[in-house]
Amino acid sequence: MKLDVQQVLNWLEKTNEKIQMNKEYLTSLDRAIGDGDHGINMSRGFQEVIDKTSTTTYTSVSDLFKDVAMTLLSKVGGASGPLYGTAFLKMSMIVKNREPIDKKTLEDALESALEGILQRGKANLNDKTLVDVWTPVVDLLKDKEVIKGSELEEVSKNAMESTKERMAKKGRAAYLKERSIGHLDPGSVSSYYLFASLAEVLSEEE
Ligand code: ADP
Ligand code: MG
Repeated sequence: MKLDVQQVLNWLEKTNEKIQMNKEYLTSLDRAIGDGDHGINMSRGFQEVIDKTSTTTYTSVSDLFKDVAMTLLSKVGGASGPLYGTAFLKMSMIVKNREPIDKKTLEDALESALEGILQRGKANLNDKTLVDVWTPVVDLLKDKEVIKGSELEEVSKNAMESTKERMAKKGRAAYLKERSIGHLDPGSVSSYYLFASLAEVLSEEE
C-alpha cells in the first residue's frame, strides 16, 4: 500500500462526509453520557479541515497532516479537539521524509498518534474513550504484514461497539459511573468513522 497527498485528501473528505452525515447521531450519543456537543465539535472541526485543505496546495503528506492538526487544535473545543489535533501532529512528524506512506510508516504514524493521545488524555485502555478504538487498530497494523481495508473496517467497528458495555473512567461520561454502561462512547464512534474512511481508501487500491 501507498498513501500520497491525493489519497490522504480523499481519506479526510470521506471522514468529513461521515461526520456531517452523522452529526446529529454523534450529538445524541454525547447527550446520553456527556454534554451533547461531540457532533457539533467534530462537524465544525472537519468542515474547517476540508475548507483549509481543499484550498491549499500540498507537496507533502506531512504538511497536510500538520494543517489538519493545527485546524483541529484551534477550531475544536472540548476534549476531542486537542486529542485528534495531537494525533495528526504526531502523524505529521512521523511521516516527514517517508513519503509516499507505506504500511510500516502508517503503522509508526498511528502508533505515535496513539501515544500522543494517551499522553494528553491520560486514559487507559477500556476506560471507554477513543483509545479503545485506536489501540486495536494500531495492534492490527503491528500484527499484519499486509493491511486490508476490510480488516481495518471490521476491527475498528468491533472496537467501537465494544465501548457500549464498558463503564467510563475518563472524560465527562466518567461522572455517570455505572449509568454510562449501555451507551456507545461518542469519541469511539467518530474514530470509527476516521478508520472506516481510511479502510475505504485502502480498499480502492487493492
Ligand atoms: P467534551 O467531552 O469535552 O464535551 P467531546 O464531546 O467533543 O468533548 O468529546 C468526547 C469524547 O472525547 C469522548 O467520547 C471520549 O472518546 C473522548 N475523551 C474524553 N476524555 C478523554 C481522555 N481523557 N482520553 C481520551 N479520550 C477522551
Ligand atoms: Mg461533549
